[in-house]
Amino acid sequence: MMNSSKSNDATDSSCQGGNLDTTEEVKDELCPGFKDADTFVKYGLGAVLSATKASAGLPQSGDEYDFYRSFPGFQEFCESQGDKLLHCMSQIMQNHGCRSHIKDRDKLTGIEERFDLVVDSNDVILERAGILLDEADGVNRSQKPVMPVGFQPPKIVVSSWNRKSVCARSETFRLLHAKNIARPQLKFKEKVDNSNTPFVPKIFIKPNSLKALPSYFTNKQIRKERPEDLDVPAALADFIHQQRTQEHVEDMFAHPYQYELDHLIVPESLLSKPEPQMYKPLAETNLTFVDSLEDLVTLNEKLCKSSEFAVDLEHHSYRSFLGLTCLMQVSTREEDFIIDTLELRSELYILNEAFTDPSIVKVFHGADSDIEWLQRDFGLYVVNLFDTHQASRALNLARHSLDHLLKHFCDVDSDKRYQLADWRIRPLPEEMIQYARSDTHYLLYIYDCVRAQLLDSNHGQPGLLQCVWNKSRDISLKKYLKPIYTEESYLELQRKQKKSFNTQQLTAFRLLFAWRDKLARQEDESTGYVLPTHMMIKISEELPKEPQGIIACCIPVPPLVRQQVNELHSLVQQAREMPLLKVRNHRCSPEVSLFGPHDVSKVSEGEVPQVTADGELDSYSPNDQRSMSVAQMKARRIIESFENPFRMYLPSADVHVNKNAKFDPSSKIFEISKRWKLQSVEQQQKELEAKKKIREEAKQQAKKASGNLVQLSFKFLKQSHIICCCFHRAAKICLEIQPVWKWPRRRLQRHKDVGLIV
Ligand code: AMP
Ligand code: MN
Ligand code: ZN
Repeated sequence: MMNSSKSNDATDSSCQGGNLDTTEEVKDELCPGFKDADTFVKYGLGAVLSATKASAGLPQSGDEYDFYRSFPGFQEFCESQGDKLLHCMSQIMQNHGCRSHIKDRDKLTGIEERFDLVVDSNDVILERAGILLDEADGVNRSQKPVMPVGFQPPKIVVSSWNRKSVCARSETFRLLHAKNIARPQLKFKEKVDNSNTPFVPKIFIKPNSLKALPSYFTNKQIRKERPEDLDVPAALADFIHQQRTQEHVEDMFAHPYQYELDHLIVPESLLSKPEPQMYKPLAETNLTFVDSLEDLVTLNEKLCKSSEFAVDLEHHSYRSFLGLTCLMQVSTREEDFIIDTLELRSELYILNEAFTDPSIVKVFHGADSDIEWLQRDFGLYVVNLFDTHQASRALNLARHSLDHLLKHFCDVDSDKRYQLADWRIRPLPEEMIQYARSDTHYLLYIYDCVRAQLLDSNHGQPGLLQCVWNKSRDISLKKYLKPIYTEESYLELQRKQKKSFNTQQLTAFRLLFAWRDKLARQEDESTGYVLPTHMMIKISEELPKEPQGIIACCIPVPPLVRQQVNELHSLVQQAREMPLLKVRNHRCSPEVSLFGPHDVSKVSEGEVPQVTADGELDSYSPNDQRSMSVAQMKARRIIESFENPFRMYLPSADVHVNKNAKFDPSSKIFEISKRWKLQSVEQQQKELEAKKKIREEAKQQAKKASGNLVQLSFKFLKQSHIICCCFHRAAKICLEIQPVWKWPRRRLQRHKDVGLIV
């Protein structure tokens, strides 16, 4: 079908080709007969679209199709068109070096197989297009940033750090992390709170308020009294604390500027098209390093007088449990400022006056983390935020990182290698200052440009721009959440790492996880510094018999592991004493057939007590409750009313308790485990597999029954559309006509989405 439509359009395209001048002839070779890539793509998409339409007009599978098929003419036509289509696809696939025995259409049974082939080919082609796009964009995939040992970058990356700077610098990485940096935490006026309790906002004065700050925050007495400071036994202190805080719970966890943000209205002037105001050249711009209260107050006054300013933060997360905001960059249209936020940590709240003033726009790029860091470290909030990252998304730009916007709008090459530098270093090296400064210097100009484009791309209507303002407001409503340790946390990590452990390994993992969390909070280090996850997994998998074996699992050995190797060894030994059972997966997963507390498919409820993933008795099981007397129930209720509200957040009490007794073969648990074991993992697995097989077969049968040429051509048409889109992209890159590619990224989604795209 594609072939036939091409011949129809041939006259069109040759007309366009006839107008070409000689300079374009070289490019022309890539798409013979087409003026440029756009024309080629327009033609290609048109062809695919009309083919898709035509295919929709074909008789549907089922009765209608069977009826048509009884006419030999129809059958013949279908077959010849089908052949053409297969031939065309097979050629495309061959051109890309993919397997392409899609053509031999004698075997109608292999529809699914052939469909897979097409999907595989698409994958290859899309991957190639992706690589070419990256290359055209200047990305070198192999480049890695300098990171401290054991550092694991977070999964969600807003800014991209692995971009190669265009002017290739010959120097290798500079020393971005120094060894003997004094811990800035030691100088903090207020100690960091690593306790396993939820974060409570630091705010105590609320400038620009429409709704007053709840008394909990203004009353120093309630805020300052921490349970551990009370001179009474711990259990009683918890109880008193609970009683005191109960009435404030709602206020304590609310966003202090929720009301103001809910009532924020973007003024008309910010929804109309601005004339982009060019940034001042760096050399002509004053840069002030703010590290005294006096300078900070002056800065605040300046900001309060402005109508917009740009903000960015630099952060350190390796040698601190919660992370530290090390630097704040602020740029107005006139000046750049770099604030030493380690030095001014306790004073920065004064900036709330400008930061929460709804008449001043605060421009950030990718503010999600910044908003949380500002709250966590300084009690700062932002009212009237504009996030250029959100704008870039709404504009569907090729990439949404700041370095891309800098290149696109300002033709500035930024060197994102410094992003992962150790920002605690003082005094800051000149190159780090310059890097930090460039993160905000151009941002107000970019803010102008993207606003203008958002209006232009929406025919002057403010809808899209309004969307960006709304998204930005949602980001400023984000609340910082402290990492909370629960008895289940280790399972979350296990699931993320996709590790399957036996009972001993899982126990080791659980104990190591708890040890690591406790020590990290206590020493104010990141968990990655205490014991990187990959080492923790290695120890759990190997369960070394000797302390030396633990050391061997950790190369290079983290200092705290070396220091506490005996403690770690005793945890591993404890794990080794567990009865050895295979745990197939995490308890929440539907795969769990043996240890899921809610899985009673194999055993009747009365027979076996509820057992949790780690083989412990679940004391809150309904069975238990039923067997309790009224008096016992009452007693439990009373005990529960005395419970610390934060109990669930407290580290497991058993971390350092030897559990030998629990796993004594004569104990009840061991008996239960044994019984479960006797039920045989294999037996259950076999049953599961048999069920799966039956389901699979039924599915296959259903597919075969409905599989016919019409269905096949539908699928192929979808595929050819994708391939065509891909050509579009590839052709553009080759021709280097438009360096900034505007095709939505989601088109490059992997084969999983293939069927959904068309
Ligand atoms: P940026 O907004 O790009 O200046 O980044 C702010 C901070 O986020 C940096 O100082 C880093 O601490 C952190 N950060 C940014 N990107 C990454 C990344 N890819 N991996 C780890 N940390 C990052
Ligand atoms: Mn940032
Ligand atoms: Zn930055």
